[in-house]
Amino acid sequence: MGKRKLSSRAARIPASPTVAIAARAKEMKAKGVDVISLSIGEPDFDTPEVIKEAAVRAIREGFTKYTPAAGIPELREAIAGKFSRDNGLEYSPGQIIVSSGAKEVIHHTLQALCGPRDEVIIPCPYWVSYPAQVALAGGSVAVINTGEERRFKITAGQLEKAVTPRSKILILNSPSNPTGMAYSRAELEAIAEIAVSRKLWIISDEIYEKILYDGTEHVSIASLGRAVKERTIVVNGASKAFAMTGWRIGYAAGDSDVIGAMVKMQSQTTTHPCSIAQKAAVASLTGEIPEVQVMVNEFAGRREYIVERLNALPGFSCLKPDGAFYAFPRVSDWYGKEIEGERIENSVDLARVLLEYARVAVVPGAGFGADGHLRFSYATAMDRLREGMRRLEGIFR
Ligand SMILES: *Cc1c(COP(=O)(O)O)cnc(C)c1O
Repeated sequence: MGKRKLSSRAARIPASPTVAIAARAKEMKAKGVDVISLSIGEPDFDTPEVIKEAAVRAIREGFTKYTPAAGIPELREAIAGKFSRDNGLEYSPGQIIVSSGAKEVIHHTLQALCGPRDEVIIPCPYWVSYPAQVALAGGSVAVINTGEERRFKITAGQLEKAVTPRSKILILNSPSNPTGMAYSRAELEAIAEIAVSRKLWIISDEIYEKILYDGTEHVSIASLGRAVKERTIVVNGASKAFAMTGWRIGYAAGDSDVIGAMVKMQSQTTTHPCSIAQKAAVASLTGEIPEVQVMVNEFAGRREYIVERLNALPGFSCLKPDGAFYAFPRVSDWYGKEIEGERIENSVDLARVLLEYARVAVVPGAGFGADGHLRFSYATAMDRLREGMRRLEGIFR
């Protein structure tokens, strides 16, 4: 018989449970329906002008050719400066890789560290790409469930219980997508102690570092001591802090053997991130960018508004997030009940009803491993947010 068309690897990538809803929202918009999108995963701000100028300059100066695979030295130095300044972490440029987005950096990290029998511990709710990327690396996922009672954060005790002889990597994401929660220094210290004693590697995804409210401090777990720093690959990038999602710049720092393996992998796949975007990223990390604080202040006002209005909806219960731009209410009180004559059994059903009857698009919690919840993004202008909440109040009356 002939060979199978797709590789077993391709078959392992989980299908997103949210594609059907995203497709329906698109279809409605194409028909001219005014859908309010609260499903967006990127800042609704423009990239700051000085960053764009640096890119224009790079084009004019002909900086349009191949660069070193790890990224240009100037950018890796700027990233080393950022880690030193913001996180108290010292890395040499040889311990740093720049890739086409934090997503690609995490992919390279998993490809470098995670083998077929290795287990990766992922706190749940999780960012959708973590389990998919572990599956691509051939590893297996061990989920640690959290809940509202613990503000969606794992404890050191839970981590200790979850570790098996096959456990190799822990993925941490603080502040978190989808919950918005951030780990405190004390919580991270306790987790770091277990990770070090059990010889786990940590992938610390800190992409929302700059988007924190009420004076919440960002702590990188790698900064808590030499032993944990040696076992941590810190991931960050330009997408969220500088509203640069389309530029595709992410980076990681850590153990030079691991970073070296990632650079080799990158050199044989995408080669390096876009030369022009790299120059823009240098500008984002070396100049004053007051727009970041303006954006965070605006998000802070929207967060107050949306959390209050979500909690006022019947059957919704929403914690106030520490950071990022998502609210993650529990909505499972609706399951087994009807809205607009439609029976609701899960987050996908509820998201579909909100889309059909209120013309508001949100993301079902199922994709993040938390089917009792919905993710509302407030990376949307205040007047649209108000209109969206008005529509929701309309169907829940
Ligand atoms: C947006 C996001 C990323 C990555 O974004 P890139 O655009 O690939 O840099 C990584 N992790 C989380 C949790 C995110 O929400």
